[in-house]
Amino acid sequence: MAWIVNHAQDEVLCFDTSFLLLVQAVHARCPTVRKWIALCDADKLPADSGIPNLLSYEAWISDQSDRYEWPSFDENAASSMCYTSGTTGKPKAALYSHRSTLLHAYASALPDVMRLSARDSVLPVVPMFHVNAWGIPYSAALTGCKLVFPGPALDGKSVYELIESEGVTFAAGVPTVWQMLLGHLQANDLKFSKLDRTVIGGAACPPAMLRAFKDQYGVQVLHGWGMTEMSPLGTLCTLKNKQLSLPNEAQLSILAKQGRAIFGVDMRIVDGKGQELPWDGKTYGDLLVKGPWVVKEYFQGEGGNPLVEGWFPTGDVATIDADGYLQITDRSKDVIKSGGEWISSIDIENIAVAHPAVAMAACIGVAHPKWDERPIVVVAKKPNTEVTKEELLQFYEGKTAKWQIPDDVVFVEAIPLGATGKILKTRLRKQLKGYVLPTAATTDRSNA
Ligand code: ADP
Repeated sequence: MAWIVNHAQDEVLCFDTSFLLLVQAVHARCPTVRKWIALCDADKLPADSGIPNLLSYEAWISDQSDRYEWPSFDENAASSMCYTSGTTGKPKAALYSHRSTLLHAYASALPDVMRLSARDSVLPVVPMFHVNAWGIPYSAALTGCKLVFPGPALDGKSVYELIESEGVTFAAGVPTVWQMLLGHLQANDLKFSKLDRTVIGGAACPPAMLRAFKDQYGVQVLHGWGMTEMSPLGTLCTLKNKQLSLPNEAQLSILAKQGRAIFGVDMRIVDGKGQELPWDGKTYGDLLVKGPWVVKEYFQGEGGNPLVEGWFPTGDVATIDADGYLQITDRSKDVIKSGGEWISSIDIENIAVAHPAVAMAACIGVAHPKWDERPIVVVAKKPNTEVTKEELLQFYEGKTAKWQIPDDVVFVEAIPLGATGKILKTRLRKQLKGYVLPTAATTDRSNA
C-alpha cells in the first residue's frame, strides 16, 4: 500500500473508516500525503488516531458550495489511476483520461457487454481499487441503475444475503468470490430470487462454475477478459444469433471462452517473430490489443514504451476462432513448457475444480531435468470432503492428453490470494521451494 501511495505521489488520501488500522500502520511511510480524509461525519472521526492532518469527509467539504458547474477542459486530461493486481510482479500504474473512461463506460453498457439499464440493481463485488470496479461506478451512473456495494464482507453468506435483500439483478466479481457464494448456496440449498446475470473475469471462469450458475441457478454468466491497462474491458462472452439453436453443451463450450472484442478494442495474436496468426480457434499466440481505452505507456513512462508497432502486448497467450471468440490459454509467465510443448495451467485447474471435493486449484510448473518443466496441481479441498491424490489424477484421465496430466497433487489448507482475489502463483512457488517431483510419475507421463 505504502509503495503504491509513494509511487503515485498521492496528496490527499480518502479512506473508509474500516481501513483505519491500515492507515495507522502506513501513514508514517507516506510523506507526500498532506491530508488524510476519513469518509464519515465529523462526530464519527476516530479520536486519538495518531494520524496527523486527519479530517472527516463531511468537515472537509462543509465550506464548499453545493452547486458545481462542470468546467470545459481537454478530454485527454487525467481522471483516475489504477495499479495492476501485481499477480506476477510489482503493481504497474495505468493512468486513465476523461475521454477513455467515458468511452469505456458507454461501451460497457451495450447489450452484448454488460447490458446495464435503469431497471438493474448492480452489485460490483469487485473492489473499486481493482480497475475502478471494472468501470461499473461510471457505467451505472451513465445508465441510472441502482448501485449496491458489498463492504468488506465477501464470504458466501454475506454476499448472498446482500443479493437477496437489495434485489440484485446483475453482479460482477472474480471466480474465487463466486466459488464462496456457490459453496454457500449448495450447502444450504438456496436459490436466487432476482439475480439474472453476472460478469466473471479477472481470472479464467472454470466451465464447472458457468454450468452451476446456468443450469442450477438460471443465472447467465458473462465471461469477460480485460486488464488494468484496458480500463479494463477487452472482451465479453455472449452468444450470436446463429448459436441460439445449438444444444446446451455446445453453447456452454462457447460461453466458457472469454468472448468477442467490444467495439473499440482491436485484437490480434502473433507468433514469436511478430507474425500475425490465423483466427482458427486452435493456433495460439501472444495477444496484442489497441483501442481508445488501452494505455500506450505506464504512468511516468515506467518500463519504457511497451507498444509493439502501436499495439499493446497483454502478456497473455490466446486463440481466436473464426467467429471472433477469444480464449485465453494462459499468461505467458504461467504457461508450462514441457518437452517443447505448452501446457495451459488454466486447463489443468479447470479440470481439478470440476471435481466435487475441490474448492480451489492452482497449477504450476516444476523444473524437470528431461522435460524442462512438468505441471503439478496444488489443491484446497472443500470442507468435509475427501479426495486422494490417486483419485484426482484418475479424474484427469480422458479429460486432457495423457502427457498434460499433472505429475503430482499437493494438498494445502488454503491457496494464497492477492488483494483482488486472484491466486498468487508467485507466493505459491515460494511456498513450494524445495518441493521435489515424484520421479515414478514423471516417467509415466512423458511427452514421448
Ligand atoms: P495482474 O496482471 O497483476 O493480475 P490485472 O488485474 O490487470 O493485474 O489482470 C489482468 C490479467 O488478468 C490479464 O492479463 C489476464 O492474464 C488475467 N485475466 C483477466 N480476465 C481473465 C479471464 N477471463 N480469463 C483468464 N485470464 C484473465
